[in-house]
Amino acid sequence: MLKNLEQESKPIPKPIPIDTAQFANLSDGERKIRGLSKEVQLIFLETNKPPIVAFQGGSKRVSYDFPKNVTPKLLTSTHNHPNIYWGGTFSQQDIISLSQNPAIGMKRVVGRKIEGTYIAIATDKADYDGLLKQILEDEIMLEVKSYKRSMLALGEFWQDEKPTDDQDKIARQSKRSRQEGTGVLVTYYKKILPEYGFVYVRDKKGR
Ligand SMILES: [Zn+2]
Repeated sequence: MLKNLEQESKPIPKPIPIDTAQFANLSDGERKIRGLSKEVQLIFLETNKPPIVAFQGGSKRVSYDFPKNVTPKLLTSTHNHPNIYWGGTFSQQDIISLSQNPAIGMKRVVGRKIEGTYIAIATDKADYDGLLKQILEDEIMLEVKSYKRSMLALGEFWQDEKPTDDQDKIARQSKRSRQEGTGVLVTYYKKILPEYGFVYVRDKKGR
């Protein structure tokens, strides 16, 4: 437990820039990053052209200094979530970084194939500051709720099962746990994002 806390408090590693030209456009980029074991973030000025920024981080969190003073809502940002236990939709950190960067008009997270893509789109009424305040207030509550839900699902899964090395079984339980934790976040975002002028949708096709 202590070890975990120490790891948590380590500074977030700086992202490593990668070649933008390998991604022809938004949909090509999302197809290529879906299912990768490393987290990759792509930022587009025009979604039918290669990204203007591409970088890779660890499988946990990526921090990036987004360009400031860019025309509001001009950019589209997308990234994948490699963690096997959760991550179908935005993390709280994703919503924080969106609300701190009004240059981002559309933020997307590419889940696994069956999860599709979750999308937040800023409308004319988008209140980035209001959203930031709200998510900072609710961040810990969400973390606890979604973690608790995932762990309960894990407990339920293994209740009548013996410990195993069966990879199929482990994959099934991780999927179940991930769905449960994601469900808590999805319910919250469905309520909160529209209140602050963002459309929250899921494209179910995992292309
Ligand atoms: Zn994310």
